[in-house]
Amino acid sequence: MTAPTNLTLADQIISRCRLLATFTETPGETTRTFLSPPMREVHAIVGEWMHSAGMTTRIDAIGNIRGLYPGPAPDSPRLLLISHLDTVPNAGAFDGPLGVILSLALIEHLHAHHTKLPYAIELVGFSEEEGVRFSKPFLSSLAVTGDITPEDLARTDDNGISVTQAIANFGLDPAQLPQARFSPHTFACLECHIEQGPILEYESVPIGIVTAIAGQTRTDITFTGQSNHAGTTPIYLRHDALAAAAEWITAVEAYSASHTDSLVATVGRIHVEPNATNVVPARVTASLDIRHAEDELRKRAVHDLIHKAHHAAERRKVAVTSHLQLEQPAVPMDEPLSNLLRDAADRVGAPNRSLHSGAGHDAMILAPHIPTTMLFLRSPNGLSHHPDESVLPEDVAAAYATALEVLSLLTP
Ligand SMILES: [Zn+2]
Repeated sequence: MTAPTNLTLADQIISRCRLLATFTETPGETTRTFLSPPMREVHAIVGEWMHSAGMTTRIDAIGNIRGLYPGPAPDSPRLLLISHLDTVPNAGAFDGPLGVILSLALIEHLHAHHTKLPYAIELVGFSEEEGVRFSKPFLSSLAVTGDITPEDLARTDDNGISVTQAIANFGLDPAQLPQARFSPHTFACLECHIEQGPILEYESVPIGIVTAIAGQTRTDITFTGQSNHAGTTPIYLRHDALAAAAEWITAVEAYSASHTDSLVATVGRIHVEPNATNVVPARVTASLDIRHAEDELRKRAVHDLIHKAHHAAERRKVAVTSHLQLEQPAVPMDEPLSNLLRDAADRVGAPNRSLHSGAGHDAMILAPHIPTTMLFLRSPNGLSHHPDESVLPEDVAAAYATALEVLSLLTP
């Protein structure tokens, strides 16, 4: 297959993303949550583009738009191309929609050139990835894998509307959810997405081959000392919970920095009691977020950092307890499929590097069921979840050429 020799196509992909960004719940910004009115408008326009590209379309019961580009037979093996169409509040134009529009451009190319592949392609524009409306992400990919639970469906939004009710309000039938599951003929899944981080830009590489989605531990660490008068209590007789926490927080940063293998540990929130200027702090609860692509290394880091909390507290006779909030294992991408993506990038001359994703993606929901991988595009200024989020046309061209090449290399 031929790679684009100019950037016209990339510009078109970018302007389509910018067009979709105008469909919003909040005028003047881009905010498009799960099953919101502007999602219907996005379905209409994306559906039209899908039709023109020779696809049949449907909206499944969780509100995903799905276009099917037929293979040689009705039960042909099927490739899934996925990304999401919902956004965070005040979002940029590319987190999610770029993957849908770039994938659509591949199918438009196949359709325009009457290219026959030995498999069908199903393009899924997910309705819910960001977790904004129901405080839980991936609801729509969980429906596609059949992993959505009755508890998920009973969750309520800020107006007390349940997921089931939201589905019905959108004009869909919750009883049809089983039909949202992916076809048993599906043999592979590819998600294109912006990196949403600074690594590719730092290394001047346009595209990344994702090897894994990092596992994550979130735990709260509570330091309990004793409050006392700030004027009368000498330092050596204090049990200052905040001083212990502060020493530990800098130790967390130093520990993370000393691990060059991309371990990241973050203390993002602290709660101080009584939080008064003239009182020795009695109690501090600090959040700890640790991510790594290898579960063993992440678990060791959690252990080490809790140990460091005890160390910082001991000297001050402050007590430490930890309360686990979230433990999410790493999700490896399919190695043969990632290798194929790398071969494709090399064949079209697109500089690339392997990396893992520190953020979660729909691909991690699909990966346990179907061989799945992800292609990242460089994020200028490492910026995402921000209205100034962008992509470079030459990177879109490189990702498009790579993905088109992988379509010709794939064998079901
Ligand atoms: Zn996203």
